[in-house]
Amino acid sequence: MLHAINHSPDAIRALRSIGAFQFLLLKRLCNRATRARDINVAWVQAVWFRLPPDWVESFCAFRPPGSKKPTTLESMRKIAGATTARKTSILLAFLAGQRVGQWFFAPGRSSTAKVAAHTEPLKKAVINLLHGFYAPALYEDGGYLGYMPPIGQANQPFHRQHLQDLFDLQNDIDVCPYCNGAATHRDMDHYIPLSRHPWLSCSPVNLVPVCKGCNLSKTTKPPWTETAAIPTQDWFHPYLRSADGNYMIELRGAAGRPEPRMVPIGATPANRCLNFENLVKLPETWKTQARSVVSTLKKELKRQAVRRGAALGEPEIRAILAESRHDADAVSRSAPYSLVRRAICDAVLNNRPGYMQMFQAAAVP
Ligand SMILES: [Zn+2]
Repeated sequence: MLHAINHSPDAIRALRSIGAFQFLLLKRLCNRATRARDINVAWVQAVWFRLPPDWVESFCAFRPPGSKKPTTLESMRKIAGATTARKTSILLAFLAGQRVGQWFFAPGRSSTAKVAAHTEPLKKAVINLLHGFYAPALYEDGGYLGYMPPIGQANQPFHRQHLQDLFDLQNDIDVCPYCNGAATHRDMDHYIPLSRHPWLSCSPVNLVPVCKGCNLSKTTKPPWTETAAIPTQDWFHPYLRSADGNYMIELRGAAGRPEPRMVPIGATPANRCLNFENLVKLPETWKTQARSVVSTLKKELKRQAVRRGAALGEPEIRAILAESRHDADAVSRSAPYSLVRRAICDAVLNNRPGYMQMFQAAAVP
């Protein structure tokens, strides 16, 4: 998001094949001749005859851990027992739901909110079924072995770790794409929340490896403005409309307490930055990090002053911070919060009031 990212072609193929299996199952469940009492493990195994029978059986019994939610098989029965009109709505919503690109770029397309409302009475069953597919197919420790899309290694199912590895190989990025923070522990974020849009449970345009903090901050907030003519007009999207190249970081607040904020550049609407900041609580994260960056830079200046045995003058401080900014640029995709570091160095180099004085006070032996 802050950085350009993409999935690898292999990951896209694998995820699309999951989507194809989802659609095949929904299509059969929503056939007008299919009734609730028809649905059992053997029926699902016949529909998904390309998948290992054991895996299908496990899938049918899947229930989110520790919850009292129905199993995926019970959800299938609910869908199969719906009226023909509702079944048609589910299928149309699934197909419409895949066209995320159209929501983002074409005015007048059905809004995400409308799509979700079509199937409200059956929403829980559909969410449970499609979420159920996400967990067994993609959780690394889910225990649902046997699912092997084309890229799977011999006797290895494709799962979340594969997706993560392929993402890493493709992108050469070690930081969280949402906040530029450390991403040692990553979650797979559904950019458009599962609860709103279960159709995108395994969609390549909707899965983003992010830090746990961003995933928690985002919760189930929808990344669009439901009341707007084009709900997605004022929103970035990790893959379809990246913020990369469309924003800069501006420091607000006093020199000692900088508050880094995203501001648009070029023709980018300001709301896109604001909406994204609010979505992942970026100002709070960056404010904390900015203090830590200031403290680190002060320590570095002090260390150099001690080494020289004299207070550093303005030219020396400028030179050190220019070098730090240069380094921050070089590692913006690998070192956490280097975007914030760059903004703070810039504040000094661009003579923002208070910054030089603050660092001069620290640059003494
Ligand atoms: Zn993050």
